[in-house]
Amino acid sequence: MTRMVRNGTVVTSMPGVSPGGPVIISRGAVVFDGERIVAIGEESDLKGMHGGAEEIDARGGIIMPGLVNLHHHFYSALARGLNPGAPMNSFSDVLDTLWWRLDRALDKETVEISAHLSLLDCIRWGCTTVFDHHASPSFIDGSLDLIGSAVAEVGLSAALCYEVTDRNGVEEAARGIAENRRFIEACRQQPRLKGLVGLHASFTVSDQTMSNVAATYSGEGCHIHVAEDPVDVSASLVAFGKGPVERLHDFGILDEKSLLAHGIHLPDGAYERIAESGASIIHNPESNANNGVGRLDVPEVAARGVQVCLGTDGMSSSVLKALRFAYLMHRASTGDANSGFEHLPNLLGNNVLVARRFFEEPLLGELVEDAPADLIVLDGSEITPLDEQNLFAYLAYGVSEARVSHTIARGKTVLENYQPTTVDVEALSARARTASPDLWRRFHELDTGTGFLGSPGKSK
Ligand SMILES: [Zn+2]
Repeated sequence: MTRMVRNGTVVTSMPGVSPGGPVIISRGAVVFDGERIVAIGEESDLKGMHGGAEEIDARGGIIMPGLVNLHHHFYSALARGLNPGAPMNSFSDVLDTLWWRLDRALDKETVEISAHLSLLDCIRWGCTTVFDHHASPSFIDGSLDLIGSAVAEVGLSAALCYEVTDRNGVEEAARGIAENRRFIEACRQQPRLKGLVGLHASFTVSDQTMSNVAATYSGEGCHIHVAEDPVDVSASLVAFGKGPVERLHDFGILDEKSLLAHGIHLPDGAYERIAESGASIIHNPESNANNGVGRLDVPEVAARGVQVCLGTDGMSSSVLKALRFAYLMHRASTGDANSGFEHLPNLLGNNVLVARRFFEEPLLGELVEDAPADLIVLDGSEITPLDEQNLFAYLAYGVSEARVSHTIARGKTVLENYQPTTVDVEALSARARTASPDLWRRFHELDTGTGFLGSPGKSK
C-alpha cells in the first residue's frame, strides 16, 4: 500500500550522513510503498503523482529519519525506583551493588518484560534501530532469542549481544560466548535482527575467555564497555599487562564493527589505535553523569580521528534527549558558551553510518528514494527558520523535548498519533507491576560484593 506522510518539514538526514548534507523541505512529504521510500519532495508536487496514497498528517511537525541508538541496556527497565540499599562510593560499587545484582536477579519473565518496556520507549522516542547489550546470568541460554522475538513483535530493527564476563566464573563465561555465537549464526539471514559479540569490559574478561571469543570471531562486531571508569584501564594493566584497547587489538577483535561504549579514560595512544582500526566510541553522557565517572571530551577525541557516536546506556530510550544532554554537558564542562558545535553535530549521523555496517541497508537513516521506510514525526512546527546550517541547534534547542507523534519502521506505523500499535501498554504495565516486586525481592536477597576478575558471585 502506498502511503504519504505530509504536512510537515522534511529533514532528509542527520549531518554527516549524505555527502551533500541534509536537505530541508518545508511543506514537504515522504511517500513510501511497503518497506521502501519511493519519493521525497514538496507536498504539492507529490500529491499530483501519488494522489491515491493513504495520508498521514504530520500536523506541521518535523518528518525525519528514525533514530539509531548504539548502546542500550533493555534489562535495566525494571530498575526504576529501585533502592540498592547500600552506599555506592565508587564505580565498582555501582556495578557490585546495583547492576550485577539486578542482572543476576533477572529471570526469563523479567528479561522479556524489560525488553518490551524498553522497546516501547524506543518507539515512543522515535528510535527505529537499537543496539542492546544484555546480561542475565541466571538466564543466559536463549535470552537473545527471547529479546529478538520482542524486537520482531514490536517491529523495530536491532543488533543484540550477551555480555561475556568472568565475574561469575568460567562456566558462565563459556555460556555467554555460546549464546552470542548461536544467536549470530541464527541471525545471518535476518535483515532486521543481528547478533554480535558482547563483552562486559576488559577488566572482567580473562585472557583465556578473550582467546575463546577470538577463536570463533569472524568479523561480526564486538560491543564492549571500555574505560568507563579508570578502573577498567588500571585493573587490565595489573591483571593482563595491557590496556583494554590493546587487548582487543591483540586478540584480533578490534575492527570497524567494534562498538566501544564510553572510552573516557584511555591513555593517549589508545585513541589513535581506535582511529586506525575504524572502531567507534559510543558516548553515553547521561549515564556518565549519573555514575560520576567523568566525561568524554568529544571534540578532542574526534579530532584524533575517532568516530564518536551516541547511546543512552539504559538511562532512557530517548536519543534526542541524550544529544541535548551531550551538548549541555559539554558546555558546562568547558565553561564556554560558544562551544558544542565541534563534532557534536555529527553524533547522530555517525550512529547511522555505523549501523549501516551491521544491516545490509546502504541507505539506512536517510529519507531518499529506495531507502528503508524508517521515519518519525516530531511535534514542533517550524516556527523559526530551519535550514541545513542550523539543524543541530534546532534539534538541541527546539525539538529534543518534543513528543514523537508517529514512528514508522520499515513501512509499518508502530506509533500512530502517540499510540503504540504493536504493544498492549496496559497489559505490559500489569505484567511489570506483578513481576517487579519479586525481582526486587530476589535483588535484595543477593549479597553485594561480587568482586572483580573472576571472583564468583555470592548469594545468600
Ligand atoms: Zn552500558
